[in-house]
Amino acid sequence: RHDPQGGANFLEDESTKIFARKVADHYSARSNQTLEEREASPIIHLKKLNNWIKSVLIQLYARRGDAVLDLACGKGGDLIKWDKAKVGYYVGIDIAEGSIKDCRTRYNGDADHHQRRKKFTFPARLICGDCYEVRLDKVLADDAPFDICSCQFALHYSWSTEARARQALANVSALLRPGGIFIGTMPDANVIVKKLREAEGLTFGNSVYWVRFDEEFSDKKFKSSSPFGIKYTFHLEDAVDCPEWIVPFHIFKSLAEEYDFELVFAKNSHEFVHEYMKKPEFVELMRRLGALGDGNQDNSTLSADEWEAAYLYMSFVLRKRGQPDKS
Ligand code: SAM
Repeated sequence: RHDPQGGANFLEDESTKIFARKVADHYSARSNQTLEEREASPIIHLKKLNNWIKSVLIQLYARRGDAVLDLACGKGGDLIKWDKAKVGYYVGIDIAEGSIKDCRTRYNGDADHHQRRKKFTFPARLICGDCYEVRLDKVLADDAPFDICSCQFALHYSWSTEARARQALANVSALLRPGGIFIGTMPDANVIVKKLREAEGLTFGNSVYWVRFDEEFSDKKFKSSSPFGIKYTFHLEDAVDCPEWIVPFHIFKSLAEEYDFELVFAKNSHEFVHEYMKKPEFVELMRRLGALGDGNQDNSTLSADEWEAAYLYMSFVLRKRGQPDKS
């Protein structure tokens, strides 16, 4: 196994841990918003659009009774989506203690400010941990195998080193049953690198987001760099302010193949919207979520800047090789 850090192991390990902590602390510190605060967010329609994308992925691939592994589950914003898909069991893991606490509160049905609702129908296990550092097959030996794994807006945090990117895929591969599905959404490296190259300096963005690359990438070519550890800072208004890492898609795909995954599809969010808005059930879901608004008020729909921010992301679906057990 190739070690991209060569002789600088100790220093690299330390800084990797510091960055993982930075990410965890950032998400832990993000307090729950009231419904009013959420609706007033400058990216409310982008949030709704992203919820639509996640709902479509879940509706397309989750089956009634499925055992679900939600890697980097955050505050449990997808619990309701899984409930609608009538899944049978849910395990959520996140590195941010504060988020797991909020997730537990939401699962238990108390003090959920977004919607007061009946209890979830499926049993759940919610764990605080680093999904990209720890071998989860041991931790979750009694819960596996899972039918479906989801990692939404979070897999790119594993690309700080090759070891972490591999651990992420090894975990999912070890925990999914043969034929199991891995769905996710992450930044689209092609779009980010294209925008960087079009930018004058090392920063680009608009009124809702900015991306800034470190000086070391000032040639914008990434030719001599390892495909892991290509760090940038991402700021999304009212949502994210974090170190993140580029996930070059062709490398991701071949690494995933090493861990027994085959690619079902990968689509940029714009393409995803165009494709699934051809289906009436998903048009109706979009209407209900309100991502595109009713067009009656100026601020009732996604702004051009939010739409451009949506373009920074892509969704993927991978399938674990093998045939499902018939029994
Ligand atoms: N998946 C959730 C969703 O879609 O609502 C949360 C997405 S949030 C943008 C990214 C999440 O990744 C945060 O909750 C963060 O704590 C989590 N995360 C980042 N690095 C992680 C790691 N190494 N292990 C587990 N979770 C991690």
